[in-house]
Amino acid sequence: MRLGIISALSEEQQGLVEAMQSPYKLIHGQREYWVGQLWEIDAVCVLSRIGKVAAAVTTTTLVEKFGVTHILFTGVAGSGDKTVNVGDIVVAESLVQHDMDASPLFPRFEVPLLGLTHFPADHQLASRLFDAASSFLDEDFMEAIAADEKAVFRLTRPRIHRGLIASGDQFIDDREHINGLNAALPGLVAVEMEGAAVAQVCHELDVPCAVIRTISDNANENAATDFLRFVKSVAAVYACYIVRRFCLQAQDVKISDQASRESAGT
Ligand code: SAH
Repeated sequence: MRLGIISALSEEQQGLVEAMQSPYKLIHGQREYWVGQLWEIDAVCVLSRIGKVAAAVTTTTLVEKFGVTHILFTGVAGSGDKTVNVGDIVVAESLVQHDMDASPLFPRFEVPLLGLTHFPADHQLASRLFDAASSFLDEDFMEAIAADEKAVFRLTRPRIHRGLIASGDQFIDDREHINGLNAALPGLVAVEMEGAAVAQVCHELDVPCAVIRTISDNANENAATDFLRFVKSVAAVYACYIVRRFCLQAQDVKISDQASRESAGT
């Protein structure tokens, strides 16, 4: 496994690059790719910057130039449903581009000539990420997040959700807009600006991918309030703990695969 980890904002990825063992930096297409190991797993960390095109070119480069075999996107998102709150975690089952609309030539949301509206995340990768995030909430959350940040953002018992993530080239901070998307997209849990582009590229290149997001805002008029403080003091901490748990699990899987190969004499 060579894991590519993408985030959009530098604040989202801060701790991860610091946690890398023997990292070195390669610059390509105006982006810094950090190559090294994360908890014994070969990894490449990169900032895509914001938006679908930025995410698509970064994903393509990770696969074509850096040879990654699996991709994770970790970052923040706006809530896509009333049951999803700030501080909750969402893991994508599938992803849709909410601003794709070539109707009446093609159905709304369908990517023309690909015949798809929803791009599935890799089931196994998403399940492992979900397990890592659940363990984080159960075992690490209380001590990982500073008490005053918990108070400011009213984080009491954050929950985890699996469902549909919608991406588009818009920061959504309008109640009517988010309610309209919620009505048009059953199962919607979050809105952001990159995930579905990563999922489309991974679908086309046949690379497994998964997307995890911490909810930073309610995609309404208050969305920009304290946004960066939340990303730095809450979401970045979540990302680091969750990726750590994910890599340690992957390490266990690697060891047990090796053991079963050895006992089978292959
Ligand atoms: N104000 C920020 C802009 C961040 S854009 C700044 O000055 O840096 C928002 C980023 O967070 C995107 O990468 C997107 O994926 C995610 N995001 C969080 N909340 C969102 C929302 N309500 N709508 C769309 N994207 C959101």
